[in-house]
Amino acid sequence: QPEHSNATNIIRSPIQDYDIPESPFLPHYLMENWHKFPNKTALINGETGVKTSYGELQTQTVKLGSAMRRLGFDKGDILTIISPNCPEFFLIYLAGTAIGMTVSPINPQYTQESKVVVFSPSLTDMVNACLRNCHTVKKTIVLGNAPGHQSLADLLQDDGKTFPENISYNSKEDILTMPYSSGTSGPPKGVMLTSYSIVANMIQSSNSDILDVQHDGIYLCVLPLFHIFAQTVIMCTGLRYGVTMVTMSKFDPVAYLNHVQKYKATHLHIVTPIMLFLASHPMVDKFDLSSVQECFFGAAPTPSALIDQFQDKFREKISLCQGFGMTELSPGSHTSPKGKRRPKTIGVVLPNTQFKKEPDKRKMIQNGSGDVAYYDEEGYTVITDRLKELIKVKGFQVAPAELEDLLLTHPAVKDVAVIGKPDDVAGELPRAYVVLRPEANATEEDIANYVKEKAVPYKQLKGGVEFRKEIPKSSSGKILKRILRDELQKNS
Ligand code: AMP
Repeated sequence: QPEHSNATNIIRSPIQDYDIPESPFLPHYLMENWHKFPNKTALINGETGVKTSYGELQTQTVKLGSAMRRLGFDKGDILTIISPNCPEFFLIYLAGTAIGMTVSPINPQYTQESKVVVFSPSLTDMVNACLRNCHTVKKTIVLGNAPGHQSLADLLQDDGKTFPENISYNSKEDILTMPYSSGTSGPPKGVMLTSYSIVANMIQSSNSDILDVQHDGIYLCVLPLFHIFAQTVIMCTGLRYGVTMVTMSKFDPVAYLNHVQKYKATHLHIVTPIMLFLASHPMVDKFDLSSVQECFFGAAPTPSALIDQFQDKFREKISLCQGFGMTELSPGSHTSPKGKRRPKTIGVVLPNTQFKKEPDKRKMIQNGSGDVAYYDEEGYTVITDRLKELIKVKGFQVAPAELEDLLLTHPAVKDVAVIGKPDDVAGELPRAYVVLRPEANATEEDIANYVKEKAVPYKQLKGGVEFRKEIPKSSSGKILKRILRDELQKNS
């Protein structure tokens, strides 16, 4: 019984609450068990094949933390890391948080009140340009070599003696990390997260009712580590349970399939564009993906036609599990319980989580981001769309996700985004941006007619259909509708 309703419309998880330690310190929590498996591979650099064991990662964490302390950095100082995924990302995160710094992994475009900036050598020019406007930065560290910047290798020469074993830390107040939310509808926001919130979210989502994280699991780490999905669900969870993780600096389809095959990846964390690739690209069939047990996906709406396509292709072989999260929640709030996965839903509320239902609307919930969802008797929840994305046609609401789902059932359509086109009479009219499959030869009119046959008049694509080579998406797979809207406005 998911809903222990009371006068205040509170919805609880069907899964019993778990004990969460009162004052967990994330880096210690992650490293707690490493002494049991020092020689086990923690990280494999997908580009170079270089391996780092848990023991080595621990030694490097101590050396780097000690070196940073020696340089005068302390609790509360912000350390910014700007780099594609690589094993050093894990090290910087561990060493920075272990000495109490706030580690802020960011997308290369943003600046903030950082004291230390760690960056990949490929971004040197951009970092140098940013630094001219960033007067708080006291130290720059490069993951390789770049003139005028200290190299990570130098700092790893430290004897480790100034590494603090224990620091005074308030795990519910001090800011451990500040990742950025995606900024699909406005500018990205830095979100201040504590050690407690991340450890709690790990316990909530990797408990035995949801999934048993396998110590001998192999994860591919291609989702960007600056986004909370990869940070908590891949990096922190992987480190806590001693999983081996293969880092990839970007999504390269051939390298991705090669790595799954070569390293026998057991679990894949994916977003919609990767699901689309796995479900539809003919190249996928040439690789042995038999090691993969389950794919976890979320972070953005996934059309149900695509979930069908994926399941038809991998039925019985790969289980699918959708989760829902927001950076502010560290990130997870929903997923399906173990053995009861329903990938077309975002699952049920995680243990130790409560939701407030919309008072007058049965079975409807809405969050601070404007996501609107409904849940069934067992608590399984389906996101309908974001309120901000809803198109208003003559006062009627049209959920773009519904039209996107419908359009994806057209055999010629590979990918799609629907937005509202401003209109003097109707207010807005639905407009579709469509990527056709390579062999398809449908016209814009065919696509519009397809919707005409299946949808009520106000949902029809009266704002037009435009063919594109691709749909603009964020690194977490969200359709960047604001780009499409800006373009439309410029061209009108
Ligand atoms: P961010 O914090 O940038 O990852 O953005 C959080 C937002 O991502 C949420 O408010 C939702 O709009 C969206 N989101 C996350 N997971 C899902 C999901 N499984 N289905 C639909 N939208 C999602």
